[in-house]
Amino acid sequence: MKFVGAHVSTSGGVENAPLNAHKIKAKAFGLFTKNQLQWEAPPLTDQNIKAFKENCARFGYKPEHILVHDSYLINPGHPEKEALAKSRRAFLEEFQRCEQLGLKYINFHPGSHLGRISETESLGRVARSINKVLEQTHGVTAVIENTSGQGTNLGYRFEHLAQIIDQVKDRSRVGICLDTCHMFAAGYNIKDADAYDATLAEFDRIVGLEYLKAMHLNDSKKPLGSRVDRHESIGKGELGKAPFGFIMRDPRLDGIPLILETPDDALWAQEIKWLYTMVGRLGKGKVHG
Ligand SMILES: [Zn+2]
Ligand SMILES: [Zn+2]
Repeated sequence: MKFVGAHVSTSGGVENAPLNAHKIKAKAFGLFTKNQLQWEAPPLTDQNIKAFKENCARFGYKPEHILVHDSYLINPGHPEKEALAKSRRAFLEEFQRCEQLGLKYINFHPGSHLGRISETESLGRVARSINKVLEQTHGVTAVIENTSGQGTNLGYRFEHLAQIIDQVKDRSRVGICLDTCHMFAAGYNIKDADAYDATLAEFDRIVGLEYLKAMHLNDSKKPLGSRVDRHESIGKGELGKAPFGFIMRDPRLDGIPLILETPDDALWAQEIKWLYTMVGRLGKGKVHG
């Protein structure tokens, strides 16, 4: 079974996320637990936490179908000591907020070497940042997102993701979120059935499909290999509709949250509805599993 949703607004409080997800008939959702563009945030109150849990229960959202996204300011691979320490403090707070809400998955970008240290060195710092937060929290899995490789950002090659996982001590609490727009912009083609199969096979070989805990479903404004991160509504970008049909028919992607981060939130209900029409439809995609 597929669990499709969108990264919904928490305006007015985190407890509004499940309500916003329910309105668009989502079976999963993504959220920020604090303002993603600020370092500081007021702590979650007991009332926020209680209402969030009640609303999730009321609309049938389980922790395994909810994906927290951390703040965009955090760089767990930062080359400088002070800035790395600041990122690590904020990273831990994000994990603690996730823990308080009873959630399992927190999704983040690996960060950036800023041209000051090597990719390998920066990836090592990311792994150590993950080890530190996992040691200090319980039940939360660190879900690393692949990136488009814009600027000096890490995580655009499957090898980067594998390199981080290799250095994580508790492998039972680390996973990957594959973003379709980022994957395509980074040079991984999924536009036709053969390319889709080859890309997933490559991911399985280098990282391992057992680590895939979530996906972000986004079309891409920019072409294959452009290394530019610009999301587009499903079917309106360079990817087109076909890859999303392959995803919806791929049993290897059952049970995990599939989250839209497409730019026009007025289309989310329609996009979710369309994605579900793709399940079981005979397309040009191969039959998996
Ligand atoms: Zn992201
Ligand atoms: Zn994403």
